[in-house]
Amino acid sequence: MLKYDLIIVGSGIVGLTSAYYIKKNDPGLSILVIDKANTFGQGNTARSAAGFRDLFSSPINFNLSHSTVEFYKHVQQEIGFDLGMKFVGYLFLLAKKNHLDEQIMQLKSKTKFRVIESEELSRIESLNLDPSKEVAEIMSLERIDHAILGENCGIIEPDLVCSYYYNELKSMNVEFSFSTEVLALKLEPENPLNYPGEPFLWQKKKIGGLSTSKGDLYADQYLLATDVWTNALTDPTGLDSHIRPKKREVFQVSGEPAQKILHTQGFNSDSLLPFTIMPHYGVYLRPAPKENSLWIGVADDIGRDFSFEEQPEAHEEYYQTNLRQVLEAYWKNYDKTNLTSMWAGYYCYNTIDKAPYIFRSMNVTVADGTSGSGILKGDSIGRYVASVYGQKKEVVLHGGTRMDSSILGIEGRTIPVEKIIL
Ligand SMILES: Cc1cc2nc3c(=O)[nH]c(=O)nc-3n(C[C@H](O)[C@H](O)[C@H](O)COP(=O)(O)OP(=O)(O)OC[C@H]3O[C@@H](n4cnc5c(N)ncnc54)[C@H](O)[C@@H]3O)c2cc1C
Repeated sequence: MLKYDLIIVGSGIVGLTSAYYIKKNDPGLSILVIDKANTFGQGNTARSAAGFRDLFSSPINFNLSHSTVEFYKHVQQEIGFDLGMKFVGYLFLLAKKNHLDEQIMQLKSKTKFRVIESEELSRIESLNLDPSKEVAEIMSLERIDHAILGENCGIIEPDLVCSYYYNELKSMNVEFSFSTEVLALKLEPENPLNYPGEPFLWQKKKIGGLSTSKGDLYADQYLLATDVWTNALTDPTGLDSHIRPKKREVFQVSGEPAQKILHTQGFNSDSLLPFTIMPHYGVYLRPAPKENSLWIGVADDIGRDFSFEEQPEAHEEYYQTNLRQVLEAYWKNYDKTNLTSMWAGYYCYNTIDKAPYIFRSMNVTVADGTSGSGILKGDSIGRYVASVYGQKKEVVLHGGTRMDSSILGIEGRTIPVEKIIL
């Protein structure tokens, strides 16, 4: 019977970065990465809005994101592997009274951003700082008073990021098996007595194998990097994954007015609109220069259920009746843009503090709860998982930041709630 040292389920950004750092730390390990998709990076990693930022309110999220951004920058600029990273910035358009000023100001000595006054904003031709009185009243919208431009932020291409780690893993002889679905984790006693009904209450348990669409697979250790699909695997075993899915929809808009907004000058060397967050409800516009269009999205909360479908779809009606109104209030001629494409995926939420969960139970390591920012924290998450897997006390992130490897675990967790979720 072929038995690996480690089988990783899931080849999204989390599975790939984790495999990379585990193998790097211990090159002798035999590792198999499996995924039900026909290649790597096809889950929520492929459905994201693909922005990166290091503006987070909780120090742990700041560290995870900042060091990942620095690592990706190193890969693109020094190693010369293109990740499609463009430092277009994140532009938070803000009403006078808001909580973001305070959250972001705390990062003053840690990263680069600047405050932009309304006079400078009024030079953006397509932007209307003041929504009409009637619209403002109905939708509770306020005047844009100022903005904060995060400069260590921008857009990236997740398929290229995944390719970077995948290529490295292939050269390190990590094996992959695609189109392989894990159907169940086989919960077994550590010391079987071969009685029916095992494992019994009083037996020490472990995952003895994986039942998959291509037959059973075995390893000493397992890593679940299965994002919102984790519950389907852990629930039958009684292991709590601690996450809940929320659907997220992205809408692509095109046409002349969209292009005019896209090519807003003055914020970056690409002469593109930064990844822009409206002052209310978290509605964002993501520049999509390859498609000459904008991607529109939001991380809505109350009113958005926790249901789960294998293939989620975006609904035009949601865009037309929710997002478009907010954008029309602030962007001139927005009503003349065309909806040209849409898709949906899930945020894998840690509903408590919105930082990732990385913990061990039995011979399983679980890495989930990325809460809508797993790509921009991907490299740090991989390093973290490798430390937890290797039962090391400390994690060293790119750039040298050291963290206790139990921080993202379940027991004794004291992470402040993340206030900047997009
Ligand atoms: C609309 C949207 C916008 C987003 N915007 C951003 C953003 O701007 N920036 C950012 O950093 N993040 C963003 N995210 C979040 C980001 O996409 C996720 O945090 C990240 O992709 C999670 O990576 P992962 O590897 O954990 O999950 P996934 O990429 O989903 O990978 C999990 C893998 O596990 C496989 N799998 C699951 N179950 C099984 C099984 N039983 N057997 C075999 N294989 C299995 C799946 O096929 C999948 O490939 C966004 C997400 C969405 C949906």
